[in-house]
Amino acid sequence: MHKGNFSFIKMDRTEYKSPEELKKLTDQNRAETNALIKKLKKKKPKNLDDFVHDLHAEAFSEFSCLDCANCCKTIGPRLIQKDIERLAKHLKIKEAEFIEQYVETDEDGDFVFRNHPCPFLMPDNYCMVYENRPRACRQYPHTDQKRFYQILKLSHKNCETCPVVLGIFGELKTNYS
Ligand code: SF4
Ligand code: SF4
Repeated sequence: MHKGNFSFIKMDRTEYKSPEELKKLTDQNRAETNALIKKLKKKKPKNLDDFVHDLHAEAFSEFSCLDCANCCKTIGPRLIQKDIERLAKHLKIKEAEFIEQYVETDEDGDFVFRNHPCPFLMPDNYCMVYENRPRACRQYPHTDQKRFYQILKLSHKNCETCPVVLGIFGELKTNYS
């Protein structure tokens, strides 16, 4: 496993950063990160996925999402029909009722939760519907996804929410700039 020297954030439980702090750090590094993204998109390094996936595994073995929940508090997932069906079933209510109570359409026409923080986030940061949570919640923050070069811009945006992603970008900068 890669032993990283995270230049932005060390991946341990004491390094939680609020969305406000993450936004500030992301802004401070924006020009440099944009240049790096341009370079990575052009070169598509063969080892990029392995590099990022190792960092993802390392980070999430040391950093607990229960100490964070920034994503559940501030951005919320896009919902697909299957998510709505599964969640309605989980809550033992009809889909129409679930939609009326919890769902709205965003500016792109996608289904999203009406409210933030997510209505299923509990005060201790546990997810009330964890076993049946939306697909997007399972996939976030996408740093274990294949062809990472395709989601560099999205991931740069996620630096404003997820301390793990910001830490990974710090490592990308150290290794690929
Ligand atoms: S995925 Fe990232 S933003 Fe979401 S809870 Fe985990 S560390 Fe925090
Ligand atoms: S459904 Fe669960 S994992 Fe998804 S945003 Fe809500 S609390 Fe977080």
